[in-house]
Amino acid sequence: MTGSGEQTFLFEQNPTRVANSERDALLANPGFGRVFTDHMATIRYSEGRGWHDAKIGPRKAFDLDPSTLVLHYAQEIFEGMKAYRLPDGGATLFRPDANARRFRNSALRLAMAPLPEELFVQSVRELVRIDRDWIPAGEGAALYLRPFMIATEVLLGVKPSAEYLYCVIASSVGSYFKGGAPAITIWVSENYTRAAPGGTGEAKCGGNYAASLAAQAEAMQEGCEQVVFLDAVERRFVEELGGMNVFFGFRDGSLQTPPLTGTILPGITRDSLITLARDMGLTVREEPYAIDQWQADAESGRLTEAFACGTAAVVTPIGKVKGREHSFTIGDGGAGPVASRLKSALLDIQNGRAPDPHGWLDRLF
Ligand SMILES: *Cc1c(COP(=O)(O)O)cnc(C)c1O
Repeated sequence: MTGSGEQTFLFEQNPTRVANSERDALLANPGFGRVFTDHMATIRYSEGRGWHDAKIGPRKAFDLDPSTLVLHYAQEIFEGMKAYRLPDGGATLFRPDANARRFRNSALRLAMAPLPEELFVQSVRELVRIDRDWIPAGEGAALYLRPFMIATEVLLGVKPSAEYLYCVIASSVGSYFKGGAPAITIWVSENYTRAAPGGTGEAKCGGNYAASLAAQAEAMQEGCEQVVFLDAVERRFVEELGGMNVFFGFRDGSLQTPPLTGTILPGITRDSLITLARDMGLTVREEPYAIDQWQADAESGRLTEAFACGTAAVVTPIGKVKGREHSFTIGDGGAGPVASRLKSALLDIQNGRAPDPHGWLDRLF
């Protein structure tokens, strides 16, 4: 059955699938992003033909001409989402329609062909159903899905590609940070910014990550796990981490997170946490927050916690903030109570242990 925008996927089974015993061993301690499933989904696009050749086939290397456009001008976008095990052995996606919409918006910003949202969701569903044995069980474990799209026209001229390859790969994952989610120390980047007004900050593209890596390397040199970026104009307002949105928690019980003004990636976790916090009766402000204010509030005790969030890292408490001009501890340097409550509430919905009042789950089987 195909609805509007859906297509029939050709299925080619991987003839050299990983043996069950080997897979079980890999799933016992998968880490993050190094254990991959047997198959991948692909769909091709070319001007004139549109989207065609939808397929689930063996996961394998691409054969790319050296002048393929993506290799030179970085016309590439991606998504990150997870399939979760349910208590009855079934599995679910979480808000895949939101990933599909964001993927479409990212494509438009990068002047790429937008993939129909139904086709995006269908490709992810079909891949997870075929590689269902790769969904690990256990707290914090999931099958991480990585849909992405690259410009595949063979050309060195600078222009939007006339051809694209869309692909979904899947990776069995445990916790993003080793040892679960202890509070992390973050480095305030004063030398680098991530995104400027009018740029690609709200698109999920590899180029944003490429631009963030020098700052991330600096953070690690300074003994921090992650970098936090300030706004590119005033170099004052806290925007987000390299790949996670940020929340601030106050003694009065309220929460604050930077507003989506075009330079911040609109996280689906961010949006879900705002909803869950309001469901709990908490006040959530989407307002700019200056780094100096953050330090002053942490020192006065007005601010009691802070945390980062994203699909990969879920909710990760921020214990300490360091920078050339800043150094402060948040609360007692550990996980705050609001972060813990929100994290449990989100995981309980995603893992089917709590009701799903907002209709976020997309049950696969
Ligand atoms: C993907 C991403 C996030 C988190 O988005 P989620 O939808 O919550 O996973 C935050 N910031 C950046 C820069 C990202 O790329």
